[in-house]
Amino acid sequence: MELRLERIEKYVGAQTHLYPLDLTLVPRAVTVLLGATQAGKTTLMRLMAGLDVPSKGRVKADGVDVTGLPVRERNVAMVYQQFINYPSMTVADNIASPLKLRREKGIDARVNELAAKLHIEPFLKRLPAELSGGMKQRTVMAIATALSPKVIVADEPTSALDVVVQRQVMQTLGRLQSGLGAAVVLIGHDMGLIAQFADTVGVMYAGRLVEIGPVAQMIAAPRHPYTRLLIDSLPGIDAKRRLTGIPGLPPRLTDMPPGCAFALRCPLASAACTASVPALQSIGDGQVACHLYPGLSALPPLTAKAAP
Ligand code: SF4
Repeated sequence: MELRLERIEKYVGAQTHLYPLDLTLVPRAVTVLLGATQAGKTTLMRLMAGLDVPSKGRVKADGVDVTGLPVRERNVAMVYQQFINYPSMTVADNIASPLKLRREKGIDARVNELAAKLHIEPFLKRLPAELSGGMKQRTVMAIATALSPKVIVADEPTSALDVVVQRQVMQTLGRLQSGLGAAVVLIGHDMGLIAQFADTVGVMYAGRLVEIGPVAQMIAAPRHPYTRLLIDSLPGIDAKRRLTGIPGLPPRLTDMPPGCAFALRCPLASAACTASVPALQSIGDGQVACHLYPGLSALPPLTAKAAP
């Protein structure tokens, strides 16, 4: 199923959490969203999953408008960080819970099938509290995929796990995805995992999508100054690389500056950057929202600016 967000916006009172944004998730592809706190990633994921309704814009599933449709009527599953709805119920009962809500037939067989796929058969009679972090996350994935969703939305599914288990969880998610032919979108911060498992990377800053493109290009030659500095600040690809932070903080959502929201922290900012908000424009096989384009072919080496 193709999930398309068209000119999605989200505001609560005077506070804008998400500015107009277009995004398409295609079957069998993994899209990773990067960005700091309050960038709008979780808001965007909740809108995709149907857990929240956009203030403006449309969500379409295979061309059909599903904006405002209750979450149970969508073919979308949300995977949280080891969050299990019913801590006092066994793993088997937790996996069966969405099937029971939908009054599916053959529930026991489906639970056993999912447990076999996720290698959690020995733990079916246990309580979630008796599981290791990795097993808990596998259980969460079994619950999320019980109804064979066509879009899987995962909010930092590996952040509470150690490095080896993170990889296993991502491999499991990949297997589930290819079995279901689903689109996956996830929030992640480990560039090593992203390089291995993502097809597309989207970068958000202060409620806006500032760059999106194929993973190899985004890692090797990002176009937006924030993407470059953000990737340099994340662990993962080259263990020996010195990580650098980005001094300063993103603007408050209630007090957005004029023009580009990154201007105060951007080493390449010019007067034009505060004059107008840069629109997302197609450059090569990606899109970038920065006034340096289309004039620039590649970013020069960047050094983070001192905190404003
Ligand atoms: Fe930097 Fe200007 Fe581009 Fe914003 S628009 S990222 S301030 S160069």
